[in-house]
Amino acid sequence: MNDTANLVQGDPDAPFWNAWREGERFLLHRCGICGRHEWPATCCIEHGLKAMEWVEVSASGVVDTFTIFHRAYAKELAAEVPYALAVLRLDAGPYFHTRIVGIAADDVQSGMRVHVRRGQQDPFPLFVPA
Ligand SMILES: [Zn+2]
Repeated sequence: MNDTANLVQGDPDAPFWNAWREGERFLLHRCGICGRHEWPATCCIEHGLKAMEWVEVSASGVVDTFTIFHRAYAKELAAEVPYALAVLRLDAGPYFHTRIVGIAADDVQSGMRVHVRRGQQDPFPLFVPA
């Protein structure tokens, strides 16, 4: 097998961002052979890039860890301070970085169940307590 054929090139996450922006569909990269989900896009360590496909998943998971920002990381977030930036463990498997909204930052806890917030104009998928 030619290993260079399995390298992810270009803008591999574009399908994820396009699906979210255009239809608020939450996609993950999945190996069509072993079924493992990945984020961000990558190749399956066993089956390579050609086995990968984008599939819509239920965007739910658990807060694995988080930090509270008391200064805005970007000016667009200035009105949100303080806010919680979290690493989720999605039910489908991968970790996902996001902001937790719909709850005071001080009330966010590791182990909290969350799901994606739909119907908003934010460019990024945000998560709220389930
Ligand atoms: Zn695989």
